[in-house]
Amino acid sequence: MGMWASLDAMWEMPAEKRIFGAVLLFSWTVYLWETFLAQRQRRIYKTTTHVPPELGQIMDSETFEKSRLYQLDKSTFSFWSGLYSEIEGTLILLFGGIPYLWRLSGRFCGYAGFGPEYEGAPCFRKLQGIPPPFLVSPVPLIHLFLQSGIPSLLSLITQSLVFLLLATLFSALTGLPWSLYNTFVIEEKHGFNQQTLGFFMKDAVKKFIVTQCILLPVSSLLLYIIKIGGDYFFIYAWLFTLVVSLVLVTIYADYIAPLFDKFTPLPEGKLKQEIEVMAKSIDFPLTKVYVVEGSKRSSHSNAYFYGFFKNKRIVLFDTLLEEYSVLNKDILEEPGMEPRKDGEGDSEEIKAKVKNKKQGCKNEEVLAVLGHELGHWKLGHTVKNIIISQMNSFLCFFLFAVLIGRKELFAAFGFYTSQPTLIGLLIIFQFIFSPYNEVLSFCLTVLSRRFEFQADAFAKKLGKAKDLYSALIKLNKDNLGFPVSDWLFSMWHYSHPPLLERLQALENSKQD
Ligand SMILES: [Zn+2]
Repeated sequence: MGMWASLDAMWEMPAEKRIFGAVLLFSWTVYLWETFLAQRQRRIYKTTTHVPPELGQIMDSETFEKSRLYQLDKSTFSFWSGLYSEIEGTLILLFGGIPYLWRLSGRFCGYAGFGPEYEGAPCFRKLQGIPPPFLVSPVPLIHLFLQSGIPSLLSLITQSLVFLLLATLFSALTGLPWSLYNTFVIEEKHGFNQQTLGFFMKDAVKKFIVTQCILLPVSSLLLYIIKIGGDYFFIYAWLFTLVVSLVLVTIYADYIAPLFDKFTPLPEGKLKQEIEVMAKSIDFPLTKVYVVEGSKRSSHSNAYFYGFFKNKRIVLFDTLLEEYSVLNKDILEEPGMEPRKDGEGDSEEIKAKVKNKKQGCKNEEVLAVLGHELGHWKLGHTVKNIIISQMNSFLCFFLFAVLIGRKELFAAFGFYTSQPTLIGLLIIFQFIFSPYNEVLSFCLTVLSRRFEFQADAFAKKLGKAKDLYSALIKLNKDNLGFPVSDWLFSMWHYSHPPLLERLQALENSKQD
């Protein structure tokens, strides 16, 4: 008996049962593996109660203890939320939640006058030979529209959109209590939360609406392209997602991010001048430097750059800047940025919540952090990441094209009589590719750590080793990062090398 016997039994099952079993088994294997890693890391939080000697210079015992307790709370939280989502996912699969939601969406469309479900209707066969949309002039298209199955293609897309809307609504609602607890209990307890409940809810609703505004049109176009793309639909589908991601990257910072956060140009001054000088010295085509009011959400700090070709901008979190952080306003009465004037009362809410602690980096340290960020650009990390992700996306669409005709894949998830394209995307990208996705994400994590070391080395070449060294220590302190980690846990999860390794690398290279 035991494992082998049940494996034998599995091979004798019909294909769809085997696929379903394998997907469930793999999901639990990953879950148990990650829980095992998390428990290893948790043991470190529990047992490392004193600052290890090699960290004596880096962290005082008070901060060390604060960070230890913060990470312990976070680890407990992620244990329970991870357990919940694994069980939720399993129950959805076992009880046929996906086909149920699909039928429900069909019924909604039926009420709205679009008729019940249609996929697999013969009219779609006729569509197979039609060339991709952009190669066809509009007049024959209208003709085709009336003759072909496109009206029912539209109703199919409608059903898919209702399905997407309901599925995202479900996950937003089930995720909400977890997110509330994380923000208002854990982050609050450790002094990071700056949001009021009102801000949080308004933000969540806004996020849901903006997501739908992007998700629904993009998905319907994608489904349309897959349906009428013919044999090479996967090339058009991939090109389409490529264009969409380029467009999103272009408009995100100017049109989407400002819906959520306030971006202010960095005021003229020494810091701005120095940033411009540094950008120029490495030919970074900087056009603007913004400060984003991250302090409205949390006191965690960060910096990034974005933009295409000759139009790049840098964004600094106000929490990163000692001089500008509102969190320091009580202590430093310096004339920093203009007081915010949203007129929405948010600023009042924040002022009331300002914590009495000083944080952020000195100008030289901010420059060193930027030196690191610009290193990512100069060393081509951004371009490399885009190329990797596009190659991956092409491969996935190609494999999708190979697999989409396999009825047993649909049957495995309770779709015996129809094979809706959206469901095919969901099953193949999320469940069938999951082993591949795990391997890929591990490789990307390893690559990301390499890139971090390289970017640090770049900042060092700019002569910023000393400032980066102290900035890393300060940021770790401000964000209550715990400087000790289990090797297996950090290897699997850390996109950035552990603090001590980065500091050591900076020190070693300082002597070169
Ligand atoms: Zn980096």
